[in-house]
Amino acid sequence: MADVAQNLAAVRRRIADACVAAGRPVDAVRLVAVSKTFGPEAIRAAYAAGQREFGENYLQEALAKQVALNEPGLVWHYVGPIQSNKTRGIAEHFDWVHGVDRIKIAQRLSDQRPVHKPPLEVCVQVNISAEASKSGCTPDEAPALCQAVAALPRLRLRGLMAIPAPGADARSAFARLRALFAAIRAQGLALDTLSAGMSEDLEAAIMEGSTLVRIGTAIFGARST
Ligand SMILES: *Cc1c(COP(=O)(O)O)cnc(C)c1O
Repeated sequence: MADVAQNLAAVRRRIADACVAAGRPVDAVRLVAVSKTFGPEAIRAAYAAGQREFGENYLQEALAKQVALNEPGLVWHYVGPIQSNKTRGIAEHFDWVHGVDRIKIAQRLSDQRPVHKPPLEVCVQVNISAEASKSGCTPDEAPALCQAVAALPRLRLRGLMAIPAPGADARSAFARLRALFAAIRAQGLALDTLSAGMSEDLEAAIMEGSTLVRIGTAIFGARST
Protein backbone atom coordinates (compact mmCIF):
# COMPACT_ATOMS: atom_id res chain seq x y z
CA MET A 1 0.00 0.00 0.00
CA ALA A 2 1.17 3.52 -0.74
CA ASP A 3 2.30 5.55 2.24
CA VAL A 4 -1.05 7.15 2.81
CA ALA A 5 0.00 9.30 5.77
CA GLN A 6 2.95 10.74 3.86
CA ASN A 7 0.89 11.32 0.73
CA LEU A 8 -1.83 13.00 2.75
CA ALA A 9 0.72 15.35 4.30
CA ALA A 10 2.02 16.22 0.83
CA VAL A 11 -1.50 16.92 -0.44
CA ARG A 12 -2.26 19.12 2.56
CA ARG A 13 0.93 21.02 1.81
CA ARG A 14 -0.06 21.48 -1.86
CA ILE A 15 -3.45 22.80 -0.76
CA ALA A 16 -1.91 25.22 1.74
CA ASP A 17 0.66 26.44 -0.80
CA ALA A 18 -2.05 26.99 -3.40
CA CYS A 19 -4.15 28.92 -0.89
CA VAL A 20 -1.20 31.17 -0.13
CA ALA A 21 -0.52 31.67 -3.84
CA ALA A 22 -4.18 32.59 -4.34
CA GLY A 23 -4.15 35.00 -1.40
CA ARG A 24 -6.70 32.90 0.47
CA PRO A 25 -6.65 31.60 4.06
CA VAL A 26 -4.84 28.23 4.33
CA ASP A 27 -7.97 26.62 5.76
CA ALA A 28 -10.24 27.86 2.95
CA VAL A 29 -10.34 24.49 1.19
CA ARG A 30 -11.81 21.27 2.48
CA LEU A 31 -10.20 17.97 1.50
CA VAL A 32 -12.25 14.94 0.51
CA ALA A 33 -10.09 11.80 0.16
CA VAL A 34 -11.52 9.78 -2.75
CA SER A 35 -11.03 6.17 -1.63
CA LYS A 36 -12.84 4.41 -4.50
CA THR A 37 -11.27 1.02 -5.37
CA PHE A 38 -9.20 1.04 -2.15
CA GLY A 39 -10.14 -1.08 0.85
CA PRO A 40 -11.03 -0.22 4.43
CA GLU A 41 -7.38 -0.50 5.50
CA ALA A 42 -6.44 2.43 3.23
CA ILE A 43 -9.26 4.48 4.74
CA ARG A 44 -8.08 3.53 8.26
CA ALA A 45 -4.56 4.70 7.41
CA ALA A 46 -5.91 8.08 6.27
CA TYR A 47 -8.17 8.26 9.31
CA ALA A 48 -5.19 7.67 11.61
CA ALA A 49 -3.53 10.64 9.89
CA GLY A 50 -6.53 12.83 10.75
CA GLN A 51 -8.64 12.55 7.56
CA ARG A 52 -12.39 12.32 8.18
CA GLU A 53 -14.08 13.01 4.81
CA PHE A 54 -14.06 10.30 2.17
CA GLY A 55 -15.42 10.11 -1.37
CA GLU A 56 -16.78 7.04 -3.15
CA ASN A 57 -18.40 6.53 -6.54
CA TYR A 58 -19.67 2.95 -6.59
CA LEU A 59 -22.57 2.39 -4.24
CA GLN A 60 -22.15 -1.32 -3.46
CA GLU A 61 -18.42 -0.95 -2.89
CA ALA A 62 -18.98 2.04 -0.61
CA LEU A 63 -21.62 0.29 1.48
CA ALA A 64 -19.30 -2.68 2.06
CA LYS A 65 -16.61 -0.32 3.33
CA GLN A 66 -19.01 1.60 5.53
CA VAL A 67 -20.02 -1.67 7.21
CA ALA A 68 -16.36 -2.55 7.79
CA LEU A 69 -15.54 0.82 9.36
CA ASN A 70 -16.99 2.04 12.63
CA GLU A 71 -14.58 4.85 13.38
CA PRO A 72 -16.45 7.88 14.73
CA GLY A 73 -16.77 11.10 12.77
CA LEU A 74 -16.53 9.72 9.23
CA VAL A 75 -18.22 11.89 6.59
CA TRP A 76 -19.17 10.18 3.31
CA HIS A 77 -19.35 11.98 -0.04
CA TYR A 78 -20.89 10.33 -3.10
CA VAL A 79 -18.90 11.69 -6.04
CA GLY A 80 -20.02 9.47 -8.94
CA PRO A 81 -22.78 9.83 -11.52
CA ILE A 82 -26.17 8.97 -9.99
CA GLN A 83 -28.52 6.46 -11.60
CA SER A 84 -32.18 6.39 -10.52
CA ASN A 85 -31.89 2.92 -9.05
CA LYS A 86 -29.06 4.06 -6.74
CA THR A 87 -30.76 7.07 -5.16
CA ARG A 88 -32.19 5.21 -2.17
CA GLY A 89 -28.85 3.77 -1.11
CA ILE A 90 -27.19 7.15 -1.55
CA ALA A 91 -29.92 9.01 0.35
CA GLU A 92 -29.68 6.54 3.21
CA HIS A 93 -25.92 6.13 3.53
CA PHE A 94 -24.17 9.33 2.48
CA ASP A 95 -23.81 12.82 3.94
CA TRP A 96 -23.02 14.63 0.68
CA VAL A 97 -23.65 14.09 -3.04
CA HIS A 98 -21.66 15.90 -5.74
CA GLY A 99 -23.26 14.54 -8.91
CA VAL A 100 -26.83 15.85 -8.99
CA ASP A 101 -27.50 16.89 -12.58
CA ARG A 102 -31.26 16.60 -13.10
CA ILE A 103 -34.41 17.34 -11.16
CA LYS A 104 -35.70 13.77 -11.21
CA ILE A 105 -32.63 12.59 -9.28
CA ALA A 106 -32.89 15.48 -6.82
CA GLN A 107 -36.55 14.73 -6.20
CA ARG A 108 -35.86 11.05 -5.51
CA LEU A 109 -32.97 11.84 -3.15
CA SER A 110 -35.19 14.23 -1.19
CA ASP A 111 -38.10 11.76 -1.04
CA GLN A 112 -35.79 8.95 0.09
CA ARG A 113 -33.68 10.83 2.64
CA PRO A 114 -34.49 9.26 6.03
CA VAL A 115 -36.31 11.63 8.38
CA HIS A 116 -33.95 10.92 11.28
CA LYS A 117 -30.96 12.20 9.30
CA PRO A 118 -30.09 15.84 8.55
CA PRO A 119 -30.82 17.01 5.00
CA LEU A 120 -28.49 15.60 2.35
CA GLU A 121 -25.81 18.14 1.35
CA VAL A 122 -25.92 18.64 -2.43
CA CYS A 123 -23.63 20.00 -5.11
CA VAL A 124 -25.11 20.34 -8.59
CA GLN A 125 -22.76 18.97 -11.25
CA VAL A 126 -22.17 21.19 -14.26
CA ASN A 127 -20.71 20.01 -17.56
CA ILE A 128 -18.38 22.98 -17.79
CA SER A 129 -16.42 21.80 -20.84
CA ALA A 130 -19.51 20.97 -22.96
CA GLU A 131 -18.40 17.37 -23.37
CA ALA A 132 -21.03 15.23 -25.03
CA SER A 133 -20.16 12.14 -23.00
CA LYS A 134 -19.94 13.71 -19.56
CA SER A 135 -22.55 13.89 -16.86
CA GLY A 136 -23.59 17.25 -15.51
CA CYS A 137 -26.23 19.77 -16.50
CA THR A 138 -25.34 22.51 -18.97
CA PRO A 139 -24.30 25.88 -17.53
CA ASP A 140 -27.59 27.30 -18.87
CA GLU A 141 -29.61 24.72 -16.94
CA ALA A 142 -27.72 25.17 -13.66
CA PRO A 143 -29.61 28.16 -12.18
CA ALA A 144 -33.04 26.53 -12.50
CA LEU A 145 -31.75 23.20 -11.20
CA CYS A 146 -30.20 24.96 -8.21
CA GLN A 147 -33.51 26.71 -7.50
CA ALA A 148 -35.32 23.37 -7.67
CA VAL A 149 -32.82 21.64 -5.34
CA ALA A 150 -33.02 24.53 -2.86
CA ALA A 151 -36.79 24.08 -2.72
CA LEU A 152 -36.69 20.37 -1.86
CA PRO A 153 -37.26 19.73 1.85
CA ARG A 154 -34.75 16.96 2.52
CA LEU A 155 -31.86 18.42 0.51
CA ARG A 156 -29.56 21.28 1.36
CA LEU A 157 -28.08 23.00 -1.67
CA ARG A 158 -24.40 23.71 -1.01
CA GLY A 159 -22.89 24.54 -4.38
CA LEU A 160 -21.57 23.43 -7.73
CA MET A 161 -19.23 20.66 -8.85
CA ALA A 162 -17.40 20.20 -12.15
CA ILE A 163 -14.69 18.10 -13.76
CA PRO A 164 -12.83 19.72 -16.69
CA ALA A 165 -12.53 17.65 -19.86
CA PRO A 166 -9.26 15.69 -20.16
CA GLY A 167 -6.73 17.78 -22.02
CA ALA A 168 -8.77 20.96 -21.64
CA ASP A 169 -7.35 24.07 -20.01
CA ALA A 170 -8.42 23.31 -16.43
CA ARG A 171 -7.86 26.83 -15.17
CA SER A 172 -10.21 28.40 -17.71
CA ALA A 173 -12.82 25.69 -17.09
CA PHE A 174 -12.65 26.42 -13.35
CA ALA A 175 -12.90 30.14 -14.08
CA ARG A 176 -16.16 29.53 -15.97
CA LEU A 177 -17.45 27.48 -13.05
CA ARG A 178 -16.57 30.27 -10.63
CA ALA A 179 -18.43 32.84 -12.77
CA LEU A 180 -21.50 30.61 -12.86
CA PHE A 181 -21.29 30.16 -9.08
CA ALA A 182 -21.19 33.94 -8.62
CA ALA A 183 -24.14 34.43 -11.00
CA ILE A 184 -26.28 31.91 -9.10
CA ARG A 185 -25.38 33.47 -5.76
CA ALA A 186 -26.36 36.84 -7.18
CA GLN A 187 -29.83 35.36 -7.74
CA GLY A 188 -30.09 34.93 -3.97
CA LEU A 189 -29.11 31.31 -3.42
CA ALA A 190 -26.72 30.89 -0.48
CA LEU A 191 -24.15 28.61 -2.13
CA ASP A 192 -20.98 28.12 -0.08
CA THR A 193 -19.24 25.22 -1.83
CA LEU A 194 -17.31 25.07 -5.06
CA SER A 195 -16.37 21.38 -5.46
CA ALA A 196 -13.50 21.56 -7.94
CA GLY A 197 -10.04 20.08 -8.23
CA MET A 198 -8.58 16.57 -8.30
CA SER A 199 -5.02 15.20 -7.98
CA GLU A 200 -3.78 16.77 -11.22
CA ASP A 201 -5.44 20.16 -11.11
CA LEU A 202 -6.05 21.14 -7.49
CA GLU A 203 -3.79 24.22 -7.78
CA ALA A 204 -5.73 25.58 -10.77
CA ALA A 205 -9.01 24.94 -8.95
CA ILE A 206 -7.88 26.72 -5.79
CA MET A 207 -6.70 29.70 -7.84
CA GLU A 208 -10.27 29.91 -9.16
CA GLY A 209 -11.96 29.78 -5.78
CA SER A 210 -12.48 26.06 -5.10
CA THR A 211 -13.60 25.42 -1.51
CA LEU A 212 -13.51 21.61 -1.72
CA VAL A 213 -11.05 19.37 -3.55
CA ARG A 214 -11.67 15.67 -4.23
CA ILE A 215 -8.33 13.85 -4.20
CA GLY A 216 -7.78 10.15 -4.90
CA THR A 217 -4.55 9.18 -6.67
CA ALA A 218 -2.27 11.64 -4.85
CA ILE A 219 -3.34 10.12 -1.51
CA PHE A 220 -3.96 6.43 -2.18
CA GLY A 221 -1.82 5.83 -5.28
CA ALA A 222 -2.79 4.80 -8.83
CA ARG A 223 -5.98 2.82 -9.25
CA SER A 224 -5.73 -0.51 -11.04
CA THR A 225 -9.33 -0.41 -12.30
C1 LIG B 1 -12.02 9.51 -8.93
C2 LIG B 1 -12.59 10.86 -8.72
C3 LIG B 1 -11.84 11.88 -8.10
C4 LIG B 1 -10.38 11.71 -7.69
O1 LIG B 1 -9.58 11.72 -8.83
P1 LIG B 1 -7.97 11.66 -8.72
O2 LIG B 1 -7.53 12.14 -10.06
O3 LIG B 1 -7.60 10.25 -8.45
O4 LIG B 1 -7.57 12.58 -7.63
C5 LIG B 1 -12.44 13.09 -7.90
N1 LIG B 1 -13.72 13.32 -8.28
C6 LIG B 1 -14.47 12.38 -8.86
C7 LIG B 1 -15.86 12.71 -9.26
C8 LIG B 1 -13.93 11.13 -9.11
O5 LIG B 1 -14.69 10.20 -9.72
